[in-house]
Amino acid sequence: MFPYLPMNEDDDALIEPETTDHQVTITLLKQYTYCPRVVYYETCTPGIRPRTYKMQAGEDAHKRERERASRRSLVAYDLPGGERRFDVRIISPALDLSGLIDEVVLTADEAIVIDYKLAAWTGDNHLVQLGAYGLLAEEAFNLPIRRGFIYLLKPRRFELVPIDEPLRNSVMETLRNVQYIRLREYMPPPVEQRSKCVSCEFRRFCNDI
Ligand code: SF4
Repeated sequence: MFPYLPMNEDDDALIEPETTDHQVTITLLKQYTYCPRVVYYETCTPGIRPRTYKMQAGEDAHKRERERASRRSLVAYDLPGGERRFDVRIISPALDLSGLIDEVVLTADEAIVIDYKLAAWTGDNHLVQLGAYGLLAEEAFNLPIRRGFIYLLKPRRFELVPIDEPLRNSVMETLRNVQYIRLREYMPPPVEQRSKCVSCEFRRFCNDI
């Protein structure tokens, strides 16, 4: 959709306690998939995002589920064993990308990324987010990533997501487009699926819908 923008390729991924302002956050990739214009508001007009009750409720539910998850056995992931790490923040200078992963399971021959969602079903935005987590974890832990899981909090159901070539390509294309918006301060057209605008926090700033 947008012109290709080259990325740095000189550094390895780091696991660090904090991110910087220089990396694209994975949240932006998810937001781009929902509506590209949200990325413009988030990156080019900082501080205008209203904080809603829904956002706070989502964070609280997420925290509660995380605590439950730490007590859940690895059988849920069809694994006999592995090391579980929670709240893993990874920065990749090579990808110019950073993210905070809910859970990473490390086994002898693979790493698995897990994301918890306050949702009833899995959307494209969730898949791109999980795929991006997979790319970060693969680089940081030097283990292959073949799959991840999304845990849907409302139906209490795990969904297996293959981290395959099409998903990886989709993540990279989304990343390039986010960088384009951020660096060029480009405001994309409104989302085609206008039903998304009904519950959007930026609704009052979009005067052309
Ligand atoms: S109101 Fe609609 S077009 Fe505007 S940012 Fe939100 S989803 Fe996108």
